Amino acid sequence: MNERDSEAVAALLRGRGYSIVDHEKEADVVLLNTCAVRDQAEQKAIGKAGHLGKIKRRNPNFMIGIMGCMAQNRGEALIDRLPDLDLLVGTQKFHRVPEMLDQLFASQRGLGPRPSTLIELGEEKGSEETIKDHTPGERKVSAFVSIMQGCNMHCTFCIVPKTRGEERYRSMEAICLEIEELVANGTKEVTLLGQIVNSYGMREIPYKKGKSPFVQLLERVHDIEGLERIRFTSPHPRGFQKDLVAAYGELEKLVPYVHLPLQSGSDRMLKLMRRPYTVRRYKEIVEQLRAVKPEMCLSTDIIVGFPGETEADFAETQTVFEDIGFDMAYLFKYSERAGTKAAEMEDDISDEIKEARNQALLEILGKRSLWRNQQLIGTVQEVLVEGPAKRGEHLYTGRNPGNRKVIFPGTERLIGEMVPVRIEEATISTIRGELVLAGV
Ligand code: SAH
Repeated sequence: MNERDSEAVAALLRGRGYSIVDHEKEADVVLLNTCAVRDQAEQKAIGKAGHLGKIKRRNPNFMIGIMGCMAQNRGEALIDRLPDLDLLVGTQKFHRVPEMLDQLFASQRGLGPRPSTLIELGEEKGSEETIKDHTPGERKVSAFVSIMQGCNMHCTFCIVPKTRGEERYRSMEAICLEIEELVANGTKEVTLLGQIVNSYGMREIPYKKGKSPFVQLLERVHDIEGLERIRFTSPHPRGFQKDLVAAYGELEKLVPYVHLPLQSGSDRMLKLMRRPYTVRRYKEIVEQLRAVKPEMCLSTDIIVGFPGETEADFAETQTVFEDIGFDMAYLFKYSERAGTKAAEMEDDISDEIKEARNQALLEILGKRSLWRNQQLIGTVQEVLVEGPAKRGEHLYTGRNPGNRKVIFPGTERLIGEMVPVRIEEATISTIRGELVLAGV
């Protein structure tokens, strides 16, 4: 989501005549887009901004901005810590960045008073429709598309509802228009983005023939000619109803891959986290998905070391994690966020224990992913070619429907194409293959 927000700001700036340079050393302005989900992310951004502040002290014309969730979360208190900031931009004000920069540059040229830090942290009606720009002429084989902003859930650990505000949905028309333009520019795959995508349109758009607004949106996106693949992230187990499961059988562009955050394998923890589902219900969704698509790939988010997580709770997570068998997972050590409900509980699990639990899950994940990757050896995978591989001459990379990166010898001509690749080698991190030529 942050990547998408940054892209949209960059596109707006380009549209305004600014250019985006490859290296910060060449830049007149550096904007940091920030995350607040864990303390570590905030500390990293603060460290980086402090470092940029040193450059500014040598070159007063250099400008620094902080945007996004940390700006929203910490607000003006950030300026006490980072007095060199020129811009502080919240999550509903990304589209204001070009104007703000114009103002700063005008004052630099002596055309206006030198403002102290420019601050935009308010709420803005309609801001959900502002994350829509892509740089014209830049071809993205796979593109992110924001469908909504904000979150109405009350997970006790999570800062997102505070930093992103209440749920606001873009219109289906605007979303489809954006995707049609991307496709006209060569995009073949989109990932629909939202904090809880399956609550898209809830309470605004009525169900139609038993189909939720999100499934209606998927159907409309599916109708866009030239689009080959649809992904989305993240759905919530709570709203993962039969219509969404059935969509996997009906919409062939919908890839057999779901990122479905579980958070914990202990019902007691889920309750304390205020995640409104049980492990049993989660497993039921997985079974339903696998019944519709046996090749379904699954990934998840897990938090270890939530306040009060006992050895027994964690053992349940381990068992469930192993039983379900995830292809991929983001494993997080619980990080206390001021202002959340969970912050009222004691962060009583030591770092050592969090680390050990994290490692234990990583080990299970490693074995499972390696096994799953090796199952691909000898099969022919449909790969959407994204571009040259980072290393290796004539090597190209793309993804199979299960979102696995595949490397194979190819040519530039194949970028943006769906090609059949026979898998020959698989490690935990790399899958290699050869292009299958028609008639050979
Ligand atoms: N809206 C998404 C989650 C976005 S945050 C959803 O509910 O699925 C991405 C992930 O960060 C969460 O799923 C959770 O696993 C993790 N996370 C959120 N808050 C956290 C915290 N305080 N400490 C550690 N991990 C956290």
